[in-house]
Amino acid sequence: MFSKILIANRGEIACRVIKTARRLGIKTVAVYSDADAEARHVAMADEAIHIGPSPARESYLVADKIVDAAKRTGAEAIHPGYGFLSENAGFAEACAKAGIVFIGPPTAAIRAMGSKSEAKKIMEKAGVPLVPGYHGDDQSPELLAKEAKRIGFPVLIKASAGGGGKGMRVVEGAAKFADALAGAKREAKASFADDHVLIEKYLTRPRHIEIQVFADTHGNCLYLFERDCSIQRRHQKVIEEAPAPDMDPARRKAMGDAAVAAAKAIGYVGAGTVEFIADQDGTFYFMEMNTRLQVEHPVTEAITGQDLVEWQLVVAAGRKMPRSQDQLAIDGHAVEVRLYAEDPARNFLPSTGTLVHLRLPEEGPNIRVDTGVREGDTVTPFYDPMIAKVIVHDRDRTSAMRRMAVLMGETEVVGVTTNAGLLKALCAHPAFVGGEVDTGFIERHHDQLFAKPAPASDRTIAIATLARLVEWHDAAPSSPGDPYSPWGAQNGFRLLGEGHDEVRWKDGEREVTVQAYHRRDGSIGLTLPGGTLEARVRHADDGRLAVLLAGETFTAAAVPRAANDGGVDYTVFADGNQRRLRLVDPLDVTQYEAVGASEGSMRSPLPGKIIDLRVKVGDTVSKGQALLVLEAMKMEHTLTAPADGKVKAVRYGIGEQVAEGAELVEFDDTES
Ligand code: ADP
Ligand code: ADP
Ligand code: MG
Repeated sequence: MFSKILIANRGEIACRVIKTARRLGIKTVAVYSDADAEARHVAMADEAIHIGPSPARESYLVADKIVDAAKRTGAEAIHPGYGFLSENAGFAEACAKAGIVFIGPPTAAIRAMGSKSEAKKIMEKAGVPLVPGYHGDDQSPELLAKEAKRIGFPVLIKASAGGGGKGMRVVEGAAKFADALAGAKREAKASFADDHVLIEKYLTRPRHIEIQVFADTHGNCLYLFERDCSIQRRHQKVIEEAPAPDMDPARRKAMGDAAVAAAKAIGYVGAGTVEFIADQDGTFYFMEMNTRLQVEHPVTEAITGQDLVEWQLVVAAGRKMPRSQDQLAIDGHAVEVRLYAEDPARNFLPSTGTLVHLRLPEEGPNIRVDTGVREGDTVTPFYDPMIAKVIVHDRDRTSAMRRMAVLMGETEVVGVTTNAGLLKALCAHPAFVGGEVDTGFIERHHDQLFAKPAPASDRTIAIATLARLVEWHDAAPSSPGDPYSPWGAQNGFRLLGEGHDEVRWKDGEREVTVQAYHRRDGSIGLTLPGGTLEARVRHADDGRLAVLLAGETFTAAAVPRAANDGGVDYTVFADGNQRRLRLVDPLDVTQYEAVGASEGSMRSPLPGKIIDLRVKVGDTVSKGQALLVLEAMKMEHTLTAPADGKVKAVRYGIGEQVAEGAELVEFDDTES
């Protein structure tokens, strides 16, 4: 076995690999970019080497710098994680040349599966079923359009070099084909420096079912059952589970055998995943093979009781796999959710910022949390916006989903927008829990999953108000560390006994004014929309608030944070829900102006580049109309008009780089 390895990755996967290495007594070397100097994976590793500026193409994607770091530190092997250089045959070759073991498959196997088009040709020969489509070399737009017509709409255009759902476009009819092709090629070029595409028949209501395969250098090749990854957004996985719901043993074996045949056809070694797309009737077709460890491998680890990173290390060290096919069995059910810094309500636009408050589920025997961040860390626009993966293992699927829904309700993140609410809604959705699983689920149930929240409850407003009062109290000159403060004694909120404060909130369009009457006994009477409630509050141990409200005791968090427009928002976490309230400061008139001004303009939600502009000065636009396309985090994001209006100014042109928060389009004030 190795005595020291280097991990050529960052974030949760780097941390996860370090964990297993440490357990096996293997020293670890981390690499990091400027943006990651303080990152969790750097802190966890035994050594860390700086490899360059923040953009991945100048650091994590530079093979030479990484091989160099391994040589300098005496690492005998390199684990590439997923993404970055993990499926880069040139990198695997560079490792070999330097006498360093690449913890992954042989170069030829990476090459064979690197292009989805080439992979399909190989699978066709091996007799593995394929989705009807075109995966030829001729890339002329005319021929591709003709092929699309032959296959029959709807079709799916895919980047041959694709991954992570990038460079993909569904096309409903011939009229939209040329535009979609151009878009897919643009995105493919930006992400993979290769704009070769293939076309497939677009299946409606399919399931994504994939098989985890493993092979060693002693001729053994086996499968560790399946994962269902059908719950997706933008063709990227959001929830993954193992085993797949309703999988019968015969079909499991047929798919496992097909996956093993695929692996054997290319002389595979190490961990790999063969992805299939399945019809509702169970017919399955080969989609692609990922020649690396997959993001969602923990669900397989949970149901098999194996550590796949340990398997990778064992196999890379030239030993036999720890188990044979007949020694593997499925135990219970596991589900994983990907907690992303993104805004589901804005078409899953990535969200960046500092994690000023972070409370992830606590790990336990059946709860696993894989994360690369801590409170205070920043989600930057440079890398994938995943905050954590949460995995629950339980007796059966229903129990696992129920527990996951609870965990997502208890997850607290302030500083970036997350998909926690959507994950909770999904895991609690009766249809999903009942086994309705396909890649169109989120879209089909959109209205329920994205239901507009009801007005904030009195309880939520009370918690925010109490947090505000505590803040005032803490800031008062007499209170910090004051041994005579009545705060600690809990028998008087104010030195002067009775008094009265007023706190005003904006809850969406509604404005709520709360009067807080401080009683002599330390309790507070709050006048809320539904009536007066009696409350008590004090600091709890973990930075939260211990609240007594209307006779009930609980802990809650209400975290203030300055918003982009200068106002202050309080995020309230209570009862498994979160809610944002805007503090209305009566002394600060600029706040009202700022809010009004932001309605008259559209700002950039992310740093990025303008790649398409669809309006000019003088245009009349209606709410929701596409105004421009921003390329950020290697994806295209269409920005739409926030309201009806007339365009007064367009601040940037195509090709220009814009900062987060930059004013892009200004509108005339239509009301006046
Ligand atoms: P696929 O969708 O192809 O099955 P996964 O769902 O396993 O693959 O996601 C892996 C892909 O997601 C990578 O190929 C990469 O593009 C992207 N990705 C996700 N997280 C990260 C990360 N932390 N670092 C780099 N790439 C990442
Ligand atoms: P990536 O490399 O980005 O993971 P895949 O080829 O694995 O690309 O496809 C990603 C997702 O897109 C699949 O999981 C599935 O939801 C959807 N998809 C792919 N091919 C088809 C198809 N032919 N019909 C319908 N959906 C598809
Ligand atoms: Mg895939």
